[in-house]
Amino acid sequence: MNKTILIKNGNIVTMNPERAVIKGDLLIQGDIIKSVGEAAQTADEVIDAEGCAVIPGLIQTHIHLTQRLFQGLADDMQLLDWLKKRIWPLEASHTYESNHASAKLGIAELIAGGTTSVIDMGTVSHTNAIFDAAKDAGIRLMSGKCMMDHGKDVPTGLMEDTEESIAESVRLAEKWHGAENGRLMYAFAPRFVVSCTEKLLIKLREINKNLNLKIHTHASENMGEIALVEKERGMRNIKYLEHLGLTGESLILAHCIWLDDDEKKILTDTGTMISHCPSSNLKLASGIAEIPELLEMGCNVSLAADGSPCSNNLDMFTEMRHAALIQKVRLLDPVAMPAHKIFEMATIGGAKAMGLSDTTGSIEPGKKADVAVVRLDTLHNLNADMGDIVSQLVYSVRASDVQTVIVDGKILMKDRSMSTLDETEVINEAKAQRNKILNENKSLFV
Ligand SMILES: [Zn+2]
Repeated sequence: MNKTILIKNGNIVTMNPERAVIKGDLLIQGDIIKSVGEAAQTADEVIDAEGCAVIPGLIQTHIHLTQRLFQGLADDMQLLDWLKKRIWPLEASHTYESNHASAKLGIAELIAGGTTSVIDMGTVSHTNAIFDAAKDAGIRLMSGKCMMDHGKDVPTGLMEDTEESIAESVRLAEKWHGAENGRLMYAFAPRFVVSCTEKLLIKLREINKNLNLKIHTHASENMGEIALVEKERGMRNIKYLEHLGLTGESLILAHCIWLDDDEKKILTDTGTMISHCPSSNLKLASGIAEIPELLEMGCNVSLAADGSPCSNNLDMFTEMRHAALIQKVRLLDPVAMPAHKIFEMATIGGAKAMGLSDTTGSIEPGKKADVAVVRLDTLHNLNADMGDIVSQLVYSVRASDVQTVIVDGKILMKDRSMSTLDETEVINEAKAQRNKILNENKSLFV
């Protein structure tokens, strides 16, 4: 008999097709949501959610766990300097142990803020460290080794041979895709067009005809990047990806800020997935993606915090708030980006990007039990009981209001106490591994 968990008396923000918010009980059996809103008497474990929202676990579709150790070490820099003078050399210094410590710290932060699923981009090496960390911590993870076989000023530790990059990616996919009851998934992760030869991108397309994996990359984040792509490949970035036959529902593109009208149409017509990272775009002054317009055209947009050195935290509540506010001021229109659309991006939009619409993203019977319980009775939250809970979740709730997090029917945090990770140990390991990397890279900081 599978273990049962009963979450009692919560305000269940289901995100079902009717977008119902139901006051009542949520019953979990094993890894599956058994019933929503029906009164249940008891279970193996009972969680009191009075005064709380019960929400689908949040889904972030563009994260760099490998960069978690480098938070605050590359602030207030130009994007290309940020990459070449800090992030690439630091990534190139990773060992299995440091990448593992980085991933554990990132995953702990994500869980503590109610994020239950992520799409991650690893670094070039030590990808097993990220999967090992996610395997033990219990988060739902889609990740892949970063692929880089082209570009200027790339450290030797990151520059790869094309064939070896593909062969290693395929080996990792065979090892990890579908592991842990399907909780771990592999996605190919070419860094961006600027870091990849055409040969690599074409081979990837051919191999993926059989493997049918997701392909996760950055695109059109920065004006310098699209100018370089145009110079080297003879066309704009998204047009180039379409020309190579890579656009489609299996392609997940982080950013998509600098698009012309033809490119917006390509993304819409092909069903290509957009991962919007507002904090990162603001801090690196990349620009503001035209998300309301893309949603209006029919694009699937999801949300994420990007890497810790470019947004400085992995908090989805901050991303939701920023995603709403930046559009209002860009368009000088307070209704340009309503809270309900933001919360859709943070839940069902993310599930669609991951190819998991049938599995997660909403609280419905038969779906996976990926759920967060969020306090609404705090000093900074008032009137959630009187008004619009989704609006409160987007505009006033903080990551620290998340009390309990369940993934795949397993409690990863209860009353803010983690069950699979020891917070003190995670922080101490991260500091020790960071110190080793910084000792080897003193010249970067003079
Ligand atoms: Zn990124």
